[in-house]
Amino acid sequence: MPSEVRGRHAFSFSSGPAILPEAVLREAQADLLDWEGRGYSVIESSHRADDFVALQHETVTLLRELLAVPANYRILLLHGGAHLQFSMVPLNLLRDRPQADFVMSGVWSDKAAAEARRYCTVQVAGSGGTDCRRLPDADELSFDPDAAYAYYVDNETINGLEFPYVPDSGDVPLVCDMSSNFLSRPFDVSRFGLAYACAQKNFGLAGLVVAVIREDLLGHARPGTPTMLDYKVHADADSSYNTPATFAVYLAALVLRWIRAEGGVAEMNRRAVERSTLLYRTIDGSGGFYTNPVRPVDRSRMNVPFSIREPRLDAAFLAGAAERGLMQLKGHRLVGGMRASIYNAMPVQAVRTLVDHMQEFQARHG
Ligand SMILES: *Cc1c(COP(=O)(O)O)cnc(C)c1O
Repeated sequence: MPSEVRGRHAFSFSSGPAILPEAVLREAQADLLDWEGRGYSVIESSHRADDFVALQHETVTLLRELLAVPANYRILLLHGGAHLQFSMVPLNLLRDRPQADFVMSGVWSDKAAAEARRYCTVQVAGSGGTDCRRLPDADELSFDPDAAYAYYVDNETINGLEFPYVPDSGDVPLVCDMSSNFLSRPFDVSRFGLAYACAQKNFGLAGLVVAVIREDLLGHARPGTPTMLDYKVHADADSSYNTPATFAVYLAALVLRWIRAEGGVAEMNRRAVERSTLLYRTIDGSGGFYTNPVRPVDRSRMNVPFSIREPRLDAAFLAGAAERGLMQLKGHRLVGGMRASIYNAMPVQAVRTLVDHMQEFQARHG
């Protein structure tokens, strides 16, 4: 197709990198050659140029506004994806203590705990069980007042579990991986010592990470911590200690502007509830043709895994979905079946099309 008539005609249900708002992609397309009328590309700009520094500042200000981040928290724009936080968290927050508490909820808490074990004793503060069908209830958690920090994952992207509450770790700083549900619902930042998220699920490009950290937790990196892994270094340098991931920061700014224009994080939550309710209703109303194993109260608004009664039908289901422009619905290799990741940018209409496909497919094969 000639480029003038090319536009979105399919939707990516990928778990990440994931769908972005079409309006943002169009704007980025124009800015790629001519950045908001400057005549050169945003990715050709120095990160020290006033215009780029202003954009970075706007990104942080938008985050502060959208999430109502209190003044005693710093917002850092970091590199290395969520995985690097698995190391930065213990390196910066252990502060000479020998142990940290972890709530075990699935693949992502396992991975973060495995990395933390290189530096400290990992104590299990609670678990939903190894089959990942539920999260622990609040009264099943027990935190050690001597732990350096208490860590949990707000949304388990692979199994489709999402915390319906914020754990109470008392005076122990609460640390949260919000990679797959950041900016999809309001949260009380003051409950957390540190909340972080990679950008490629709900607000942009892979590589970039936003970390919201309480100021008193800066400046305690253990001796030997690489400079680039010290939160305070990034805070002191306004997230430009080295060259920031400029295009990712720019794209995050566009998505944040879009979120604000659409009605903010509360509106993102309203849409997430609408999208996920459509899917869970279809699954639960299918008489067992489709199933989702997660306890209803712990079901994710962001990632909806489901299986077809007869797995031999998976390929036909995916082919029919692709014909309707519904892409990348294949489930994670650890879980199998399907997974619909329905982040902020996923139009409700695309989910309605998926529901139509599910119902017609069942009528034909059920
Ligand atoms: C995607 C994801 C990660 C990993 O992100 P990377 O940027 O690939 O390191 C970590 N935690 C959660 C909850 C995720 O969804």
